[in-house]
Amino acid sequence: MCRHLAWLGAPRTLSDLLLEPEHGLLHQSWAPRRQAHGTVNADGWGAGWFTPGQPAPARWRAAGPLWASVSFASVAPHVAAGCVLAAVRSASAGMPGDESACAPFLRDGRLLSHNGVVDRAVLPAAAWRDAESVCDSAVLAAHLLEDPDDLGARVAAVGAADPRARLNVLLADGERLLATAWGDTLSVLVRDDGVVLASEPYDDDPGWSDVPDRSLVTVGPGGVRTTPIGR
Ligand code: GLN
Repeated sequence: MCRHLAWLGAPRTLSDLLLEPEHGLLHQSWAPRRQAHGTVNADGWGAGWFTPGQPAPARWRAAGPLWASVSFASVAPHVAAGCVLAAVRSASAGMPGDESACAPFLRDGRLLSHNGVVDRAVLPAAAWRDAESVCDSAVLAAHLLEDPDDLGARVAAVGAADPRARLNVLLADGERLLATAWGDTLSVLVRDDGVVLASEPYDDDPGWSDVPDRSLVTVGPGGVRTTPIGR
């Protein structure tokens, strides 16, 4: 399984969010602390962020390990954003290895990352048509990004169609974050200046809390809301 992270709040640099935390995504790319499936996350990485006034978010993805991206390491301290979604990848068996298979995926100006695995046969033909890659996560992303407000119901329906699926996703639209916990770990940290959602805590701040499995989390101007799905 991959590891992913999203931030919504006051602008923070990509370096502060992804590279500097003691157990952040950079460190998780070789030594995650809570990963139950897979060992290292060296099959690619991606970061997306929103800039006010721009119709679409920026994305920087690469097929290699995050620790090898020396150019990103030099740029990351210079880029700050209030809505960020990033992931490091451990490819599932049989999935493509190129950059287009790395999260975050993009549709209609929104970003989505998937931490897990799903049988692509249960996903609708329209999602295959709109997907950025044949990777299971890309097809799932095309399906879920078709209607972000239906995220919880769609994840529960895909989970019912493929009981072995693991469907932890993060969705960002620049103004809110949506997330599901379905088969893997998800943690939330509420700070004075914003909210972090992540596969696992990036440090030992006692403010981190675990999201119960089979939940939908919504983060927006109204705060953080967690509701059960499919149970
Ligand atoms: N199934 C996705 C892939 O192959 C995500 C894998 C994961 O969560 N490790 O990239």
